[in-house]
Amino acid sequence: MKTQLSPWLSAYAAALGAIIGSFLNVCISRLPADESVSAPRSRCPRCGGGIAWYDNIPIVSFLLLGGRCRACRMPISWRYPLVELLTAALFWAGAERWGVSWAAVRWCVLSAVMVELLFSDLETRILPDEFTLWGAAAGVMLSPLAPLPPGLIPLIVLGESATRGGENNPDPFARRCSDGPPLPSPRTASRTPHSVARCCR
Ligand SMILES: [Zn+2]
Repeated sequence: MKTQLSPWLSAYAAALGAIIGSFLNVCISRLPADESVSAPRSRCPRCGGGIAWYDNIPIVSFLLLGGRCRACRMPISWRYPLVELLTAALFWAGAERWGVSWAAVRWCVLSAVMVELLFSDLETRILPDEFTLWGAAAGVMLSPLAPLPPGLIPLIVLGESATRGGENNPDPFARRCSDGPPLPSPRTASRTPHSVARCCR
């Protein structure tokens, strides 16, 4: 059930997404190297200089600094604002779609896990256990609170035939024929592969 959000609450979800995205950037940089994500504090990967809190505000600091380190003026990777922006957009979309609900929490957790895995894979070809294993565990824990719509799992596993074939008609192709256009003429069918001819396509 969706609870209607005010625009301010959707903006809050986006801001939370940007902060989570900032943390995901730390995870993307450090987890593949088995480094701690809590210490030491953020440093410029080029000059090693510490990054002050006001230079570490998601998206905003990148724009204010013109995409360059304050100390050495070397370019900051576009991955940092991209991950923050993408996570913010996904959280905003989840809040808009599901409101304040466990379904929105499920969406945000899945989004964060997928963003981390995507960029970690792109940069290092490593998928950290912290996200694959704990992401799967989070999915299991959230499943009773935010179950998937009925019929979705059979649809994913078995495909469209699972929803279209009935007990009295175990052949999904035959069932589709009754819904679709007429069977091809014998002449067309003779030139068409067997299964395709039976389902009229
Ligand atoms: Zn620097």
